[in-house]
Amino acid sequence: METFHKGMEQINPKDNMSHYFVNESENVIVNAFERKSAVHAGLMDRFAPVEKTQSVLQEVLQQDRKNKTAAYIHVPFCETHCLYCGFYNQPYRKEQSKIFTDTLIKEIKLWEKCRALYSKPINALYFGGGTPTALEVEDIKRIFNIIHEILPLANDCEITMEGRISNMTQDKVEAYLDGGVNRFSLGVQSFNTELRRSMGRRSDRDIIIERINMIKSYNNAAIVLDLIYGFPNQTMDIWVDDIKTAQSLELDGFDCYQLNVFPNTPLGKRIADGSISPALDVKTKTDFFLKSIELMEEALYKRLSVNHWQRTTRERNIYNQFARGYASCLSFGAGAGGNINGYNYMILRDYKGYSEAINHGVKPIMGISIPDKNYALYKEIAESIENGWLDLANLENKYNYPLLSMTEPVLNQWEKAGVITQKSGKIILTKAGQFWFVNLSQLLQEFIKLTIKFSEHSNKPEIAG
Ligand code: SF4
Repeated sequence: METFHKGMEQINPKDNMSHYFVNESENVIVNAFERKSAVHAGLMDRFAPVEKTQSVLQEVLQQDRKNKTAAYIHVPFCETHCLYCGFYNQPYRKEQSKIFTDTLIKEIKLWEKCRALYSKPINALYFGGGTPTALEVEDIKRIFNIIHEILPLANDCEITMEGRISNMTQDKVEAYLDGGVNRFSLGVQSFNTELRRSMGRRSDRDIIIERINMIKSYNNAAIVLDLIYGFPNQTMDIWVDDIKTAQSLELDGFDCYQLNVFPNTPLGKRIADGSISPALDVKTKTDFFLKSIELMEEALYKRLSVNHWQRTTRERNIYNQFARGYASCLSFGAGAGGNINGYNYMILRDYKGYSEAINHGVKPIMGISIPDKNYALYKEIAESIENGWLDLANLENKYNYPLLSMTEPVLNQWEKAGVITQKSGKIILTKAGQFWFVNLSQLLQEFIKLTIKFSEHSNKPEIAG
């Protein structure tokens, strides 16, 4: 125990760990931090030397998967570039559907004989992008054929198709359902036609509602959608109408999340050059956040995570939970990120280079990380804080570190500032803490990692000169 206290003292002796503290303020939800620290909380990876990338990957592929698992298929095309999006990769052309599908099938087959692929069931499969629903019906069928032939999907595997409303025609929806899709995640963002158009989205409010009702009529899959707050010129009236409209559709769940403006996106650039009004400020975003909680609680939705709400038990949100937590993710497609037993890897984003490599029988990996020995602990913290709570006492037993005493000075300050409450080794995020959960998660992971590092260092015997 003493060594962990020594580790704590070494973290930031100059300003007494204040780097890990929250700004104390009467209005803590607005002032807890200057800004959101990242989109997702997570520690920096240590990468294997570039020349060893393929050999490390091959070793990892021969291991059984040790943890729960998702698979992710990334379709790197978009029909338009939504102004706020940093994931745009390739414009979609109809002829690309067959070419991409041929390549994807080859890519999936490359791992067919690998233990990491076949050793255990896959609990969630997610089609994302880009726009997976851009692909043509014939190709959708071919992709599902290969998936069912090669990937060991669990009997209750959640299979999500991330959909763009303009693509959701009846023939495509039927092809997805025939392929086993049991969850549609629709990127609506807002029902307000004017606001949508200003952000580069095409479909209008009536089309969105019509298409959602069409998918619902099959009664064969969960339907969830994303709503975003923080757009330039978005008013509280628009936000309330978005939430109430989504509620009136009686879907299985939906997300209410905050807009992130990245400087390299068209939106970031246009805000910077003054051609678009700035996105909403922190104070206004906190008002929108609190309003969403009020309206969702009033409508008796259950909260699965800080941003995600469930109306029916058809919605399980498995993939998203796995993506934040300690899970493997077998990924396929140009630009996809994946993970096997804590080894994170990223597939080449350059579509031409990706296709050439796959056609030569090589999965083009840009880098692969070597997991920290406490990787699972940090991922569990990330997953749990995103859910709005953290059972530190349980993690202390599970990972055999004195996490409660180690984090006491930080957590006590957070409680005093009003972003958490603590009881019996559990921490619960207040609404202010929920608004800033990414920062809290990031800080806590960093603090624990540094404390362990310094304590282990101070524990080492002096080396005689
Ligand atoms: S939001 Fe989706 S469809 Fe729009 S540019 Fe980004 S990835 Fe493409």
